Amino acid sequence: MDLNFRPEYKDFRKEVEAFCNKWKGVYFKNASNSPLLDLTSSGSNEGNKIITRQKWQKILIENGYFARSIPKEYGGFGGENDEIKNRIIASEFAYHGIPSPMSGQGIDMLVPTLLELGTEEQKQKYIKKTLHGEMIWCQGYSEPNAGSDLASLQTKAELIDGKWIINGQKIWTSTAQYSQMMFCLVRTEPEAKKHAGISYLLIPMGTPGIDVRPLIDMTLKAGFNEVFFTDVAIPEENIVGKRGEGWAVANATLTHERGSLTNPNATMSRVNALIDRMKEDTINGIRLIDIPVYRDKLIALQAKVTAFQSNSLRVLSAKLNPGQDVKMAGMIQKYYGTELRHELEGFAVDVMGELGTLYEDSPLPER
Ligand SMILES: Cc1cc2nc3c(=O)[nH]c(=O)nc-3n(C[C@H](O)[C@H](O)[C@H](O)COP(=O)(O)OP(=O)(O)OC[C@H]3O[C@@H](n4cnc5c(N)ncnc54)[C@H](O)[C@@H]3O)c2cc1C
Repeated sequence: MDLNFRPEYKDFRKEVEAFCNKWKGVYFKNASNSPLLDLTSSGSNEGNKIITRQKWQKILIENGYFARSIPKEYGGFGGENDEIKNRIIASEFAYHGIPSPMSGQGIDMLVPTLLELGTEEQKQKYIKKTLHGEMIWCQGYSEPNAGSDLASLQTKAELIDGKWIINGQKIWTSTAQYSQMMFCLVRTEPEAKKHAGISYLLIPMGTPGIDVRPLIDMTLKAGFNEVFFTDVAIPEENIVGKRGEGWAVANATLTHERGSLTNPNATMSRVNALIDRMKEDTINGIRLIDIPVYRDKLIALQAKVTAFQSNSLRVLSAKLNPGQDVKMAGMIQKYYGTELRHELEGFAVDVMGELGTLYEDSPLPER
């Protein structure tokens, strides 16, 4: 197996490297630096590389470094689908510490679902705004009595006079408090077998009858919410796929979720960020990175992440060769990636205490 890129990709890598050098140090003004959300309304100042998240998103799309193969008419770059170029972009961005594009349930899960299964009208209405960070989505799947056994969900929708009337409750809904839209599973055929009676609806979160209640967790953050629906009326055309066939649509969305959860380059970025912190922070005047027990653990972790990156290239190479089945390799990659990330975050907490639990966008305390 040859893990080197073919010569034609060398020029592309140089192009991406030049972009990274130009934008090194870009920072998001008054904003969460998290790739998930843009809470900023500030203007831009390219000279200082202080810009809004949405402006950054647009720059990435215009240059073909995000939404590369999504057609222009839906707000993408409109280029060819080249997995190797995507990998080169991700690895150069991670290497140079360039912020990733915005991500989240809308961009990573709903957009590919609509591209695959949405109507033309739905594609036109939602994809561009979502890709450009102007429309945030949340995922309404879990319910108090429907978690692992998702198909037992009970939130119901009845079609009355051209409107879906929704009643019920969702739980663990990440980012519902910031979202303009929810993709949601509801029961529309109560008489059908449980997997057959579900439909997939797109619900504007501003619709009367929706009540979002934050669930404060032990870090005092409200990442999750409960969402209650009381006679919420939305247009009939806000259904993706056919009535009662939402289970298949839901699974299409989940396939994209799995793919987005274990990005080896993002994991390596996290290692690099940790190394930077460990060079700065000290105990009794000794840099954390110089303490042998931490250093050994860090090097072992770095080696595992490097192996994880190489394995993802192996999966990619198999994918590009017709006839090779990569399903199992992909699942192993997802399993190993989540375990590795868990180990890495645990190490960050061991080394830095509660600071290790902070998200990228949390302000560090004054020193
Ligand atoms: C970070 C995070 C973000 C999330 N965001 C969202 C979101 O945005 N939208 C959303 O809809 N949901 C979200 N969820 C919810 C997630 O999808 C649910 O946690 C999941 O569906 C599990 O449901 P539950 O918590 O009710 O656990 P349960 O289903 O009650 O399971 C509890 C435990 O029992 C085990 N178990 C369950 N059934 C069986 C069985 N038959 N045999 C053996 N063991 C079993 C499970 O493995 C688990 O260990 C999020 C969860 C997390 C952790």
